[in-house]
Amino acid sequence: MTKPQITIENFDIDTELKCKCGCNKFNYDNAFLVCLQAYRYLIKQGMNVTSGCRCIKHNTDEGGVSTSLHICEGKKASALDFWCKGMAYAYKKACDCGLFNEVIWYKSKNIIHIGQDPNQTGNFFCTK
Ligand SMILES: [Zn+2]
Ligand SMILES: [Zn+2]
Repeated sequence: MTKPQITIENFDIDTELKCKCGCNKFNYDNAFLVCLQAYRYLIKQGMNVTSGCRCIKHNTDEGGVSTSLHICEGKKASALDFWCKGMAYAYKKACDCGLFNEVIWYKSKNIIHIGQDPNQTGNFFCTK
């Protein structure tokens, strides 16, 4: 039996979370997805996903570091980039909610990166 795929209320796996290079790879850490949805409930705001899962090639093309949490090949992805209304509010919530230990607001691109880095225990960082 194949394991059923997780569904999360406010995100569409096919159009939002799979690798956007066209390879359609999807391999997210379920715990991250649960936290992602919890965060979505918290901010009560539609999130426009700019980057979800990335295959290794797409991550390189996007200029992502080789240790990127977006990579879903050989490990599970545990990060997502998005923009929404009220970025300052969304950023503050992402930092304060305790759901993620990697929160980066790329102001030049106007996107927020939220992630769970399993190798970074209890060492929360938030950068602007
Ligand atoms: Zn890909
Ligand atoms: Zn990111």
